[in-house]
Amino acid sequence: MDPGSYDVWLLDLDGTLVDTEWSYVREVFDRVGDQMGRSFSDREAAVLWHGLGGTRNGHLHRWGVDPETFWSTFHANGDPETRAAATYLHDDATFVADLEVPVGVVTHSQPFLAGPVIDALDIGDWFDVVVSCSDEVGWKPDPAPVELTLDLLDVDPATSRGVLAGDGATDIGAAWNAGLDGIHVERHGPDRRGHCVLGDHRVRSFDTLWTNGGTDRGICPPRAYNSA
Ligand SMILES: [Mg+2]
Repeated sequence: MDPGSYDVWLLDLDGTLVDTEWSYVREVFDRVGDQMGRSFSDREAAVLWHGLGGTRNGHLHRWGVDPETFWSTFHANGDPETRAAATYLHDDATFVADLEVPVGVVTHSQPFLAGPVIDALDIGDWFDVVVSCSDEVGWKPDPAPVELTLDLLDVDPATSRGVLAGDGATDIGAAWNAGLDGIHVERHGPDRRGHCVLGDHRVRSFDTLWTNGGTDRGICPPRAYNSA
């Protein structure tokens, strides 16, 4: 489907529209490591921060790290204002400002983190609603947070063609589970991610959506699909 034809757009936030300077990420993991008595390599920090190659808790279990201890330590060492100051907008995300249909954010980022980022980047007026996932709302790829966002936008998915764009496999899963199209923006590459992510549109940059019909060729070679 022509990316310009959707009746409603939903977007993930972190990794999709914005990202955080590595220096901030590294500092957080250094503090977490000090307090847990276990250092985190750059690769481990990136895997956990970006959600690469499987579930975060699955990685923690494999590394012998108790997820509950990790997440409580991780959240205690995050500083919303410092993080917001270290967060930048991807150049290719500015198309969202020009969308003339309902636009919502569906993010795993919690309001105390997402709010300062959106304020600092002055992009609040891009969105009609921002929904943070939670145990109550559900977490992507559960369609529940997507359905809630559509409801808040007063969009009937039965009569509208919607799309959800995100950088994670869970974003595409949530889109498809909710009956929307999915746009995967691959910010890392399948080699670094550890697998390929399918989608109705698959791009390295949103700029490609408007220039060639919405799909970059060659993100994943055919063989990688079979082993994903
Ligand atoms: Mg993301």
